[in-house]
Amino acid sequence: MRAAEIAAGVRAGTLRAADLTEQHLARIAEREGEIHAFNHVMADEARAQAARIDAAAAAGNDPGPLAGVTVALKDNMCTRGVPTTCSSRILEGWKPPYNATVVDTLHAAGAVVVGKTNLDEFAMGSSTENSAFGPTRNPLDTSRVPGGSSGGSAAAVAAGFSQFSLGSDTGGSIRQPAALCGVVGVKPTYGYVSRYGLVAFASSLDQIGPFTSSVEDAALVLDVIGGHDPHDSTSIPQQHPSLVDSLQQGVEGLRIGRITDLPEGADPDVNERLEAAFEALAAAGATIVDVEVPAFTFGLTAYYLIAPAEASSNLARYDGVRYGMRVEAADTNAMYGATREKGFGDEVKRRIMLGTYALSAGYYDAYYGKALKVRRLIHDDFERAYTKADVLLTPTSPSVAFEFGSKGDNPLAMYLCDTYTIPTNLAGHPGMSVPYGTGAHGLPVGVQVLAGTLQEPTMFRVAAALERSVS
Ligand code: GLN
Repeated sequence: MRAAEIAAGVRAGTLRAADLTEQHLARIAEREGEIHAFNHVMADEARAQAARIDAAAAAGNDPGPLAGVTVALKDNMCTRGVPTTCSSRILEGWKPPYNATVVDTLHAAGAVVVGKTNLDEFAMGSSTENSAFGPTRNPLDTSRVPGGSSGGSAAAVAAGFSQFSLGSDTGGSIRQPAALCGVVGVKPTYGYVSRYGLVAFASSLDQIGPFTSSVEDAALVLDVIGGHDPHDSTSIPQQHPSLVDSLQQGVEGLRIGRITDLPEGADPDVNERLEAAFEALAAAGATIVDVEVPAFTFGLTAYYLIAPAEASSNLARYDGVRYGMRVEAADTNAMYGATREKGFGDEVKRRIMLGTYALSAGYYDAYYGKALKVRRLIHDDFERAYTKADVLLTPTSPSVAFEFGSKGDNPLAMYLCDTYTIPTNLAGHPGMSVPYGTGAHGLPVGVQVLAGTLQEPTMFRVAAALERSVS
């Protein structure tokens, strides 16, 4: 069922939030042992919220546009009184004293939170293998990764554990796992959704967005969670037009850009699906145009200076004093060191070292400063491309879901998973992954739709057309 149908039924009293919640909890009980999508299932809280919603509907009050719709939250979003771990040992035992804005917004809209999902530690990774609590498995093939870093959120939707989920995307962490799990994943324009209460990884890149099983559900969720939040100084101070309203508009007359100098590296099965997507949009009345985005290819390099630099600063706050675990030692400095040594995993330490180096005196201009200049070039190249095309189409991930351990000892191979997603984050633009059939091993392939700042309505028109053409 679509989220809008569920909410309409619950609002009208023909469906009960309690029943829908039990169905999802039963599904979790059935398969969670095998999948490990969650760090924390919130069965009691979910039942209590469902009861509140049914009572509101029965009393003639409107429980909201997501009434009775279940949601799973990436475990880097603060939930009051409920553990928020970022899948890191260093936050063990920490319970936030407040909710992220998105959590309050979802509650107010009548959504039912069923749990907190697994991720690569502090959202650093592309397979969820970097979680301190063990990996999540891809529900479509449990010998393979679900992608990352929001792997638990992608898997939760693919496995039917919740109607939708939220993830965060700093360099691809919503779109890539969405592609690997065969669901829709959206990274909105930077500032579209409040990041208040999202544990920071790289603050100039982080964005929250939804995973759903349909384009329409994604539009509805973004219509609910998008908009200005005075608690987040980077949130855009304006109301966004309804994305649900854009879905039926079709693509006739739209210009769909093919990036002629896109970095190579996508597998043939992925490229085949991309070609099929171009053909389907042309058949639906769009025009395919060639564009160049020369700096696209430098995205990965710039990102692995900028994101670690920001992370090294953001993660300095985990010192054994303010949050979570502490390892006692002879003096304060030794305590900081021992806590961070034990609390952080290898990938997080690697990023902190990279970032600290890139920011250090003498290297700042050569590394961090230069990366910022490249970032500007990427942004400007995209802006030029968007004068010729309304949206751009690329693969989301270079390959379908890969096997556990296949990139584990090679950080660079893992980083290359984000070749096609990262430039968008650096530009601040929106992007989304739409499932577009299957490739190797019968596994899903995602096509990425990219658009300019606040061009979500156009991006969703194209995504809806792609979805119509494939189902
Ligand atoms: N995989 C990328 C990284 O490891 C992106 C992660 C993200 O978007 N949070 O940094």
